[in-house]
Amino acid sequence: MARPERQCCACRQTHPKDELLRFVCGPDGVPTLDLREKLPGRGAYLCPRMECLRKGLRPKGIGRALGCGAPSFSADDLRAQALEGLGRLLNEQLGHAHRMGAVVWGGERVTEALDAGRVDWILVAADAAQRLLTDMSSRADGRCVYRGPDKAELGRVLGPAEVGVVAVTHPPMAEKIQALAVRWNRLREENGDGQG
Ligand SMILES: [Zn+2]
Repeated sequence: MARPERQCCACRQTHPKDELLRFVCGPDGVPTLDLREKLPGRGAYLCPRMECLRKGLRPKGIGRALGCGAPSFSADDLRAQALEGLGRLLNEQLGHAHRMGAVVWGGERVTEALDAGRVDWILVAADAAQRLLTDMSSRADGRCVYRGPDKAELGRVLGPAEVGVVAVTHPPMAEKIQALAVRWNRLREENGDGQG
């Protein structure tokens, strides 16, 4: 199934919709970030990159694309807001997948699931050792390995005190969570000055 695509109104490039940040004209007449993609109205999209956030906040950016006022927040504020919101949704969806029994965690079980072809990507806690990331990347055999919420946070969602590595085995859920992880990682990798 083809993934719907949208154009970023800063760089004008087309990307899968679920890799972009959606905005709508909020009730206060300025663009509002719509991470759940549930707010009514026409949407405008930006890449999760500082360069596009900065450009998109200019008068000719998302404000104009949505036919509403120019946003009053800075690109740094927007990045922080998006990171916080994406992290929250990531935990929420992981919790949901967990309740469905569609999550495995711990190096051994994730490796087993990988070998059995039950996972397409892996989430490694933001504060997990580099060694775990390297180890998982080598086992992932070309599949994506993302950084995710920290160990204690993943633990709160999944049960044990700390979780270093997790994978989702239910394809539609996996796709949803991966889309959140992709954007979260892109924004997180940016160092805030637009150079990263
Ligand atoms: Zn862009």
